[in-house]
Amino acid sequence: MRIRSRHVVSGTGLAALLAVGCAAPEDAVPGAAAARVAVAPTPGSFARVDRVVVADDGLPSFVRGDLGRIDPRAQDVPAALGGVIPNIAAAFRMRAEDLIAYDVSRDELGMTHVRYQQHKQGLRVVGGDLVVHLDADGLVSAVTSTARDGIDLDPIPTVDLDRAIATASAATAGGAVTVHGSDLVYLFASSGGAPYLAWEIELVGTREVVYDRVYVDARSGAVVDRHPDVFPIKNREVFDAQGRSPPFLSSPGPRLATEGSPPATDVTARAAYDNTGITYDCYKMKYNRDSYDNAGAKLTSVVHAVFQSQQGSTPNNAAWIGQFGPGMMVYGDGDGNLMGPLARALDVTAHELTHAVTSSTARLAYQNESGAMNEAMSDIMASVCEAWSEGAINLQTWQVGEDVFTPAAPGDAMRYMYSPTLDSNLYPPELGGSRDFYADRYLGSQDNGGVHLNSGIANLAFYLLSEGGLHPRQRVTFRVNGIGIEKAGAIFQRALTQGYFTSNTNFAQARTATEEAARNLYGAAEVTAVSTAWAAVGVGQPPVANDTTPPTVAITSPADGASVTAGFAVDVTATDDQGVLRVELAVDGALVGTDNSPPYQFTTAADLAAGQHTLTATAYDAANQATATTTVTIPGPGVECVPACGDGETCTDGVCVPGNPADGDETGGCLGCSTGGPDSASALALGAVGLLLARRRRRA
Ligand SMILES: [Zn+2]
Repeated sequence: MRIRSRHVVSGTGLAALLAVGCAAPEDAVPGAAAARVAVAPTPGSFARVDRVVVADDGLPSFVRGDLGRIDPRAQDVPAALGGVIPNIAAAFRMRAEDLIAYDVSRDELGMTHVRYQQHKQGLRVVGGDLVVHLDADGLVSAVTSTARDGIDLDPIPTVDLDRAIATASAATAGGAVTVHGSDLVYLFASSGGAPYLAWEIELVGTREVVYDRVYVDARSGAVVDRHPDVFPIKNREVFDAQGRSPPFLSSPGPRLATEGSPPATDVTARAAYDNTGITYDCYKMKYNRDSYDNAGAKLTSVVHAVFQSQQGSTPNNAAWIGQFGPGMMVYGDGDGNLMGPLARALDVTAHELTHAVTSSTARLAYQNESGAMNEAMSDIMASVCEAWSEGAINLQTWQVGEDVFTPAAPGDAMRYMYSPTLDSNLYPPELGGSRDFYADRYLGSQDNGGVHLNSGIANLAFYLLSEGGLHPRQRVTFRVNGIGIEKAGAIFQRALTQGYFTSNTNFAQARTATEEAARNLYGAAEVTAVSTAWAAVGVGQPPVANDTTPPTVAITSPADGASVTAGFAVDVTATDDQGVLRVELAVDGALVGTDNSPPYQFTTAADLAAGQHTLTATAYDAANQATATTTVTIPGPGVECVPACGDGETCTDGVCVPGNPADGDETGGCLGCSTGGPDSASALALGAVGLLLARRRRRA
C-alpha cells in the first residue's frame, strides 16, 4: 500500500498524455539514395538498367531499372516471377533453381518485396539473400543481392557436429547455453571473404539474453561467424533526485549512469540500474517485448527522491511517472524503518515498469476495478520476473516488496499474493487489508476506489492459476488445478498487451480476456483452469462440471517390481479427453516434481535409500485427478525381494538371482538372511548388480 500514488494526476499531465497519444507517427522515410559505389557494364538481358552497384567481388549487389514485369493483379507473386527470375539469377551468376522465395511483403507505398534464400548443392547459403522489388504496376524495378555463386567447396564436413556444438557452446555466454538447433550450411561470413562450409549452431542463453547462431568451420573447427538474434538495445539511465520530489519538470538531477556505465559507488543507484536491466531482460526473453513500449524506450530511473502527498512528504514510495515527457521510475530511499531504499527490490522495479507496459498497451484506467487490474498486473509481472530471475519459485515469489519492507523485520512483505488478507495490519481498520474475494471487495473512494485493496482478488486468482490449491480462507471449497507460472504469466501478459484488456476492463471482463488468451495459447484444460481460478476468488461461477472423465495415467518406466539404482528416471504417460494440465510424481508420498507438458519425465533423488519405494504419479485435468503407483527396489544389504523370488531363484540384497543358497539348500531362500558369511553375500550382490546393468544396457 505504500506504492499508493502510482503517478500524480493533474491537468497538465493529462494534456501531456493526450499530446503524446495524438502525436503523428513518424513518416516512413523513402529509401534515400545511397552513394553510388560503382557502375558496372549493364547486365545484358535487362530492358533497361538505370543503376548498378558492384560489390568487392565484381558482382552486382544492386540493380535498378526495367528488370522484368509481372501481372500486377497476381496473387502468388513468387509464382508470377517465375519467368523473370532466371534472367535475374544469371546477372548474379546463379541458377534460378537455387533461389527459393520465403517472404513476400507489401509496403505503404504499394511496392512488393520478395525475399529469396540462396541454396547450393542442397545446402542453405547463409548470407546469400536476394530481394526482388516490384512497383505497384508489376514492374520489377530493382534487385538487392548478397547472393552470388562461385562457391567451390566440397559439401562434406570433416569436423563432426558434436565437436562443432562443443566449440560453439564454449565460445558463447561462458558456456551457459542450450542448443536450439543445428544445420550444415554454406556461409558468406559477415566479415566478408571466401565462403565456408559451416555448422550453424543455434544457442540460447540460460542465464543471459542470448540467442546466437554460431558458425563453426566444418573443415577447421574454428568459430568463423556469429549472428546474434537479440540486440543489446537496453538503454538505461539513472539520475539522482538529491531529495527533491517528482514531477521533475526540468532535469531530475545529476546523471549517475548511462547504458554500459553503471553507477560506480552509489549502491542504490546501482540496484536501480541492475533491477531495471533484469526487468528489461525478463520481458525480452519471455515475451519478446523490447522495453515498455516495445520500441526500445529508454529506461530512466531516478533515485533518492521524496514523495509529496496530502499527508506530507515521505521517502517510503516508488512510482512510474509517465506524464511529463519521457517516463521515469522514481524511487524513495525509505525511512529505514517502514521501508529500505525501494530501488533495491527487483519486484518493486518490475512492478513500476509493468505500469509503463500497461500504460502503453491496455491503458487500464487507474480507478476502481480496472485500476485494481492495473495494480494486479504489476504485482503479477513482478512475481513472474522474480521467478525468472531467480530460476526458482518459493514463498518470496508470491510476496511483494519483501526485500525492502520493514528492514528490521525479515519474513514480512507489503502484499501477499497467496493470501492477500495477511497485510491487514498495514491499513487503518476502516479500510481493512487487501481483499481476496470479489464479494468482499472494497467499494469506498479511498485508494482510487481500492486499486491496491482490490488487486489482491486478481493476485490470488493468478497465484491459484499458477500453483493450484484452495482459497486460503476457504471462501469456496473447490480446488484450482495449477498450470504453472510460465503458462499463467503468458496468459495474463497476452491479455494485457494484445488487446484483450482495455481501459475499463473490470474483473468479469478480465476473466473473459484471460480465458480467451488461454484459448489462443493453449487449450481447453488451461481455459478451464483460468475460469476456475477466477471463480475461486468469487469472479463468476466455476465452469459447469462438464469435465467428468478423469485422466488416464501410467508409469511406463521403471516397471512395477523393478530393481533400480538411486537417481533413477521415471517416465509417465497421461491422457485426457480435454487435456492433461500437469503430472506430479511422489516417492513414498513426498513430491518429487511437477511436469506441465509431455513427455512427463522425472528424476528421483540420488541419495534415495536402499529398500522398497512406492512411486505415485498423479495426473490432473481441469476438474479431476487420477493416480498410478509402482513399487521399485533399490538393492542393498538386507533388502527383501518384493515380489518374492520364484522357484530356483535366490533373493540377494533385494535382487532375485538364479540359483540356490550357497549352503546347498535345495529349496532356495533368502541369501541375505542365510548363514553364509558377509563375504559371499557381497560377492553375490555384486554379481547381481552386474546382471542388472547388463539387462539395462540390452534394453537401451
Ligand atoms: Zn503500483
